[in-house]
Formats: sequence, structure tokens, C-alpha cells
Amino acid sequence: MNIPNILAAQARKYPNKEALVTPQERLTYLEWNEAVNKLANSLSELGVQTGDKVVLHMPNTKEFLFTYFAVQRLGALIVPINAKLVQQEITYILEHSDAKVFVTHELLFPQLENLSDEHDLIFIKTGSRVGEWLSFENLLAEGSKTEITCPLTEDDEASILYTSGTTGTPKGVVFTYRSILTVARMICIEMTMKPESRVLHMMPLSHSAPLHLFMVAGTYVGATHVLVPTFTPDLLLETVAKEKTTHFFGAPIAYLASSKHPKINEFDLSSMEYWVYGGAPLSMQEVQFVQEKFQTNRLICVYGLTEAGPNGTLLGFEEHDTKAGSIGKRAALDCEIRIVDENDEDVEQGEIGEIILRGEGNMKEYYKSPEETTKSIRGEWLYTGDMAMQDEDGYYWVIDRKKDMIISGGVNIYPKEVENLLITHPVIADVAVVGVPNPDWGETVKAFVVTEGEVDNLADICKDYLQDKLADYKIPRLYEKMEALPRNATGKLLKNQLRERITN
Ligand code: ATP
Repeated sequence: MNIPNILAAQARKYPNKEALVTPQERLTYLEWNEAVNKLANSLSELGVQTGDKVVLHMPNTKEFLFTYFAVQRLGALIVPINAKLVQQEITYILEHSDAKVFVTHELLFPQLENLSDEHDLIFIKTGSRVGEWLSFENLLAEGSKTEITCPLTEDDEASILYTSGTTGTPKGVVFTYRSILTVARMICIEMTMKPESRVLHMMPLSHSAPLHLFMVAGTYVGATHVLVPTFTPDLLLETVAKEKTTHFFGAPIAYLASSKHPKINEFDLSSMEYWVYGGAPLSMQEVQFVQEKFQTNRLICVYGLTEAGPNGTLLGFEEHDTKAGSIGKRAALDCEIRIVDENDEDVEQGEIGEIILRGEGNMKEYYKSPEETTKSIRGEWLYTGDMAMQDEDGYYWVIDRKKDMIISGGVNIYPKEVENLLITHPVIADVAVVGVPNPDWGETVKAFVVTEGEVDNLADICKDYLQDKLADYKIPRLYEKMEALPRNATGKLLKNQLRERITN
């Protein structure tokens, strides 16, 4: 069964089962599928066809899920983008993806109203029609209920997901149906997703982990999706308690912020079977804090990257007791992992090398970037750009991203090691470490620091603090105070902007 047909099949199998729960309403699988049919027919009448690209700019709403399936039913490619992106970022993606249609939400529309003056596309928004912008609801109301089926194979292209650009210009990651289904099936098995599961979506569905790991997987088994447009600790705790959800995927910060909720003890979170996090690690101390506050030992860490589906590795419930902070010791179902050196030789245990992944979850290519594709996919392996090492028990620890590595005097320095230490100093609220070109050393180490309140002698404070904790060559020589560090819509640090600041 391919993704566009899965929903139709569930509508026949479980017509009256609760499929979508939003803060306003509850829809069955039959109702969801009917909306998808209608929208697909309307889009088809507008000329959308196989191979076209439809950019979807929405928070986690039912309209997101209607559009995702309607577009794929026409054999077109869905391009979900983060709802927090601004006009300039959207313009880049519209042009780069060769978009034919742009769909957004009325709450986001006021900032984008003049987008339709700049591009010759079909523009759709929820709410009423405005100028060139067609009304989503009108398209739904006017579309025929007839089911459209498009002959698709698992090797056909399903979607393009743009990376968030933390390591450069956003790249369009092209997925086939096979990649997405591989990752979804992995979750169904590894995290026992079943028709009775109730999956909570609070992280942006435009991102590969919430989308493929949880939305597609949940639909694949006929589970119930509970959609919440934004994350707040209150909403997370309230929704779990009210909707008795079983699966949640969140960034580590979602867990840490919710753990600090003053009334967390008053919420019944016992329905949760899998508390999943990824994108960054949680340290042992943080894991213990979250476990205590959430009253759970059901934390799962996933490691992966958009380009891998994001299939990668898993750190299971009990493994958190001894190996929190690592990404586990085995690749997830349908994936293989190795750590290699510059010559593609496997490194010894304890040595640092690059993680490479093999599996059908991997992307097909970067859209219109053959050179980038060749750099990332070599043979059947995806080169992740993540530097890691395996400890004596076989557990993998991500050290840093290869692109962030600083080479000073021919020696490698991993900025995360320095950042992780500096952030533990009480006057430091946020920190980023990057390399600065240096004629003698190649690069020298610089720290951008956000302080708690006024601090006069920042460089001395930091150097003294690091002196007995780090080798001298790793200690930053240069320091700059910042009001805030540049971060993208998902909160990831934009080190490129810091590097540009240095060169300009
Ligand atoms: P870009 O590719 O443009 O930089 P991005 O950083 O948002 O965008 P993602 O695919 O979302 O790209 O992030 C994947 C990266 O996040 C991995 O390559 C790895 O560096 C990091 N990562 C993911 N999961 C974990 C984890 N469990 N522990 C540590 N690091 C992780």
C-alpha cells in the first residue's frame, strides 16, 4: 500500500474511528478521507498534476493533513515548510522548488499578503478569498467526493523537505514513498504503534521526525492523531491528560521546559507509552530530572537527520539509566551505522570518525544539487557530517558536526566540548564557539557569549574557568558578548551567521 492509498484504505477499514482531534473538532477516518478527495479534485481542476510541487506552509492543523494527502493523491510532490519561516525564506523555497501552488493559513497570511504579487503561482489560504488568494474552504466545499487514484510506485517521488539551513543554504531533500514508508514502518515496530495508539503532534509537522516518524506511521496503522498547533508546557501536559495520548515526539527543550511546570504533578500522564525525543541529546542529569518530573521511565532517544528519513539509531528505556547522552548502540530497524575516517575505513572503538548510515529511509537526492548529493550519498551510504565515537560498551556518542569542527595548528577541536563546559558557568546564559581564520594556526577559537546580567571581564572569567578542564589549545582566545545568539525557527543555532559576522 502506498501513502496516498493508505488513508483511503483506513477510511474503509475504520470509517467511524476517531482519526483527527484538534482543539475545535473531532473527525473520523471517513470524514478525513472525504475532505482529502474533495481537495484533491479541486486541486486537479486547478491543473495540479503528477510531478508538480505544492508548498505547504501551515501549523499543525487538519488543513495540513488534508493537503498532505490530497497533493500526493495527484502524484504531485508535497513541500511542507516551517510555519515560522518569513517571506524571504519562503521566496527562496518557492523559487528553488519550482512550486506551482502555495498553501498557507489565515493566521500566517497577513505577513505574506504581497507574496502573490511577486510570484506566478496558485495561492491558497484558509478563510475567505482575498485578491489572488483562493479560499481553502471554498475548494473543499466545491470539490467532488470521487476518489482519485494515481498509479504510483514506492520509487516515485513523494515530497521535498527543506533542511533548516543550520549548515548553509537550506537544501531540498527529495523523498520517495519507499523512504517515508521505511521510516514509518520502523516506528510502528520499534514503538509498537497500533490502531489504539493516540499520537500527540505538537512539534511542527513540516519537520521529518514528527511527519514521517509519527504522522505517516500513525496513519499507516489507523491510529488517532491529536493535533496541537503550537508547543507550550501547559498544552503538552493538559493534552496528554485530557486526550490520554500514548506517543509524543519532542525536542529535548520541550521536555526540559515542561519539567519545570510548577503543577506537573497534578497532571495524569500515565497513558503515555513512548516519550520520544531527538534532534539533540539529553544529558544524564537532564534525563533524571525529566524522568522524576514526568514520573516515567519510558524515554526513548532517536538519532537521525532529515536526509536519513530520519532513520538512524535508538536509545531505549532502560539504556537511559547508564548511557543517557549517547544515541544508543544499535541502528534502528532497516538501518545500518558505521563510523569511518577520511579514507572510509572503520575507526577503532574510542576513536572519532564520521557517522555513515545505510538504509531505505535515506533520501533519494538533494533537489537540483547533484554536487551536494554526490558528497552526501556515496554508494549506498549516507555521509551524515556528524562526528561520533563508540565507547567500550559499543554505545555511540555524537561529538559534533563535521562542518563546525575547528582545525587549529593541525589539531581538531570540537566546539560542543567547549560550549558544554562554558554553559555550566553561572554567568553564562548561552554560548556558541566557532573558528576564526588565523594566519599562524589556520583557525583560532572564538566564543560568542550571552551573559546573565552585566559582566565586565568575560574573557578572564571564561579562561580561568576552563583552565583545569580543557587542554590549552581548545580554550577560546577571543570572546564577544551578544544580546542573543542567532537561531532558526526550530531553535537551532545558526553558526553560519556568526562566521559571517567574523569575516564581514
Ligand atoms: P541542516 O541540515 O540545514 O543543518 P538541521 O540541523 O535542522 O538542518 P536536522 O536533520 O533536523 O537538520 O538535524 C539533524 C542533526 O541533528 C543530526 O545530523 C545531528 O547533528 C543532530 N541530532 C539529531 N538527533 C540527535 C541526537 N539524538 N543526539 C545528538 N544529536 C542529534
